[in-house]
Amino acid sequence: MDKDKWKIGTQAVQGEYWPSNAKARVVPITMSTTYRYDTCEELARVFDLEQDTDMYTRLSNPTTDILEKKISLMEGGVGALATSSGMAAITLAVLNMCKKGDSILAANNIYGGAYTVFTTTFKDLGIEAIMFDPDISEEEMLSLAKPNTKLVYGESISNPLAKVLDFDKFSRVAKKLGVPLMVDNTFATPVLCKPFELGANIVVHSTSKYMDGHAVALGGVIVDGGNFNWNNGKFPDFVEPDESYHGVSYFKNFGKTAYITKARVQMMRNFGMTPSPFNSWLINLGCESLHLRMRQHSDNALKIAKYLENHEMCAWVKYPGLESSQYYPLAQKYLPNGCSGVMTFGVKGGRDASRKFINSLKMVALVTHVADSRTCVLQPASTTHRQLSDQELIDCGISPEMIRLSIGIEDADDIIADFEQAFQCCK
Ligand SMILES: *Cc1c(COP(=O)(O)O)cnc(C)c1O
Repeated sequence: MDKDKWKIGTQAVQGEYWPSNAKARVVPITMSTTYRYDTCEELARVFDLEQDTDMYTRLSNPTTDILEKKISLMEGGVGALATSSGMAAITLAVLNMCKKGDSILAANNIYGGAYTVFTTTFKDLGIEAIMFDPDISEEEMLSLAKPNTKLVYGESISNPLAKVLDFDKFSRVAKKLGVPLMVDNTFATPVLCKPFELGANIVVHSTSKYMDGHAVALGGVIVDGGNFNWNNGKFPDFVEPDESYHGVSYFKNFGKTAYITKARVQMMRNFGMTPSPFNSWLINLGCESLHLRMRQHSDNALKIAKYLENHEMCAWVKYPGLESSQYYPLAQKYLPNGCSGVMTFGVKGGRDASRKFINSLKMVALVTHVADSRTCVLQPASTTHRQLSDQELIDCGISPEMIRLSIGIEDADDIIADFEQAFQCCK
């Protein structure tokens, strides 16, 4: 079986569980923290990273392993590490390669939680986040970098503004700096965008969103593209011996999987941001229909974006699938199969009118979440981006009246009918 050549839908359904004769057809949930060994010698080999088997669920688990392999297969990576949440994935992915004295070049339109951890907690740890407007030129990006810059970071489709990442620009900057490009691919998913084919080196996800798809389980994942040379002088921690593993060198001992191996055996060992096997099972189940759902989310979203664009009470709508969008050319280039389900818009009349619109919805619900099967709305300025100062909000393009819309997989006509009655209530 040439799994790597399968189309994404086959990978989503079939990857990566191949039961042997008379074993459960569906992924079993291995709800066990620990694993039995015959001899002390064998277990010692596992501790020394000479044998790759399960030893303790903080580090690996058979159910979680299947999910990790499926997502890695879909992304085209060399390995993945599932985490307890998307924030855990981002935190672990960054701390696996940045430490005190380093800096990160990060787009300022990223998820509010990521923005906050970059600019507060990482700052406290001695890692500086250089936040920049993703629309600046390549030269401007390069001029912001410092000798200690170790990472370029952005979102393939940003939350909440749905700006599309200029992969060519970002990956050229990362290459020139000799650092990896890390991309949060949560909103696009590998169904709509394959960051490794576009120059990314590491992908992170909040699987709590489309991958789960049903808003039942929090989770995250880090995927290693296996396409970055950690032995370029900037990342000695990947090359020099790790004394906590009797002198293992991740670069020398693990080659292409150096990054994801270190993330697991060092960072996950130390931080323990491990998913429950039950959550891994739920997320794996969600992933089995990801390709179908992303198509429906994208088709519905485009219909509704066009409806809003033509509505007399809608002040503005931003969706990269609309020809009027500044990001339409990038969407055409990088998202040929659809632009996912998230957009933003404002109701004419400002903050109060938008609030009234949300309060008037009957089927569509006000929730903090995005990217599940049910259509939902939120006002970012008062919720997800609440921690940001007024100036930071303006810098990130979050206006007070903005409504973030996450279009579900219902029938588009019924979503439009609910919006229409809510608009009528705003008159
Ligand atoms: C939700 C989200 C996160 C954080 O994920 P959690 O699972 O909520 O911790 C990170 N990045 C993006 C783009 C998100 O939408």
